[in-house]
Order: sequence, then structure tokens, then C-alpha cells
Amino acid sequence: MHYQPQRELLQNRIILVTGASDGIGREAALTYARYGASVVLLGRNEDKLRAVAQQIQQEGGIAPQWFTLDLLTCTPEICQQLAQKISIHTPHLDGVLHNAGLLGDVVPMDQQKPDVWQDVMQVNVNGTFFLTQALLPLLLKSDSGSLVFTSSSVGQQGRANWGAYAVSKFATEGMMQVLAEEYQSQLRVNCINPGGTRTGMRASAFPTEDPQKLKTPADIMPLYLWLMGDDSRRKTGTTFDAQPGRKPGISQ
Ligand code: NDP
Repeated sequence: MHYQPQRELLQNRIILVTGASDGIGREAALTYARYGASVVLLGRNEDKLRAVAQQIQQEGGIAPQWFTLDLLTCTPEICQQLAQKISIHTPHLDGVLHNAGLLGDVVPMDQQKPDVWQDVMQVNVNGTFFLTQALLPLLLKSDSGSLVFTSSSVGQQGRANWGAYAVSKFATEGMMQVLAEEYQSQLRVNCINPGGTRTGMRASAFPTEDPQKLKTPADIMPLYLWLMGDDSRRKTGTTFDAQPGRKPGISQ
């Protein structure tokens, strides 16, 4: 995507990022802070979140709030309590990036382990839904709220061996579309399909792939910025490709 964001694109915006401890989410949190946002970091690993928060401050960004939330074990009540805690210092949210995700096993359907299947659904769908429900009141207080989910090319076209992960991403697309229709004029709701990107998750999905052939999280940030800033204000109910034209599958 060719997009030249204004340096102050996200000034006075408060943006929450899940899975902010690593990979694409970490890069998104750093990038949003560089463009002036105040960020709220969520993740399951305290040390990794603290390190991201420190980096943001070292770069001169606004000191972020960070909270641990394990999407694997979270309940609706835990998410409500977290939203309550966030609201003490954060009167509203202008953006939420649901980025955290679990890959599960890349094996045929008849070998998908039921417990791993349930974990993938819990992290990618149920936990993400509980958190969305809890954060919606804060998002609706913004005059230009943006709710962004993270999909995948296997969330639009099923592919052999992608089992629980693919099914969870189809569900994510559905959740986005339902919400987009429900909040048409109050909140924009979209998905990002990052496309193959150089992260730990990608390396475990494609262990033989040369990571140098992949875009880095930093390379795909223009779309992440665009969806959180005013330039996308009227867009809702859509899945955007961060790497349009890229063929799904292993990079040669
Ligand atoms: P990474 O594995 O690098 O990062 C995943 C992030 O999610 C980490 O911060 C991780 O935390 C967090 N996370 C995982 N499980 C939980 C949990 N139970 N509770 C809370 N946080 C959790 O993945 P990517 O950056 O590659 O992926 C980011 C998103 O993009 C995912 O939704 C993925 O499905 C999607 N995607 C990625 C593609 C790619 O090529 N990389 C392609 C298409 C989609 P921790 O640091 O503790 O592990």
C-alpha cells in the first residue's frame, strides 16, 4: 500500500493493541506511538510488554499503559474487569487493534487435535469477542472510533491443513461484518490481512521458508496507520490486504 501518513496522524488518539509484545502487534504499537498516539498495550507476557513500553518511552513517545491478559484463559468477567481498569486512566479508546493470534497445528482435519482446536478458537475468536464486548463502550465514546481485527488469506479461502486457524479467521471476518453493520454510523469496523510477514508465527507455519523473502512487520505498517487515522474515516465492513497482489503461500 502506498500511503504517506502525516507525522501527526494519530496525535490525541488512544489506541489499544493486543499481542503488543511481539511480531506485527509490537511493531504496530511502536508505530502508532511514533505517529503521536497514546497506546495501551495488551499481551500475556509481562516482561515483553514492559520492554515494548520502555522502547516507546526511549523513542520519545507517550508513556504507554500496559496490562497482561491471557486470551487463552480469559472469561467475559476478566475482560470486563480489565476494561474497568483501563477506563480509570483512559476515558475513551479511538482505536482497538485485535492482533493477538494463535496458529495451532498445520495438519489435515483428521489430525487436528481437539484440545489445540479449542485453544485456537478461544484465543482467536472467543477471547477476542469477550474483549470486544468489554471495550465497545470505551470505543463508542470516541468521535471517530476504529475497530480492527486481524484476518488471513486462509480466512477468505479455505486451504488444506490450515484447520482451526483458517476456521477461526473465517469467524473473525464474520465477527467484523456483523459489527460493521450494527455500528454503521458510530464506529468503523474492518479487518487487515497482513499477508506473509516475517514473524515467529510465520516461521513456525513455514519452517523451510527463507525469512528474507518476506516483508517485515515495519513494511506493512502503512495500512495499519491508515485504518487508525482519519483518512479511513468512512470505510467500514471491509477486509484490507496489507500486501495487495501477494500470492498466498510460501515465498519463493
Ligand atoms: P506472533 O506469533 O509473532 O505474535 C503473536 C502475538 O499474539 C504475540 O504478541 C503473542 O504473545 C500474542 N498472543 C498469542 N497468544 C496469546 C494469548 N493467549 N493471549 C494473549 N496474547 C497472545 O504472530 P504475528 O505477529 O505473525 O501475527 C499477528 C497477527 O497476524 C495474528 O492474528 C496472525 O494470525 C495474523 N497473521 C500473520 C501473518 C504472518 O505472516 N505473520 C499472516 C496472516 C495473518 P507472546 O509475545 O506472549 O507470544
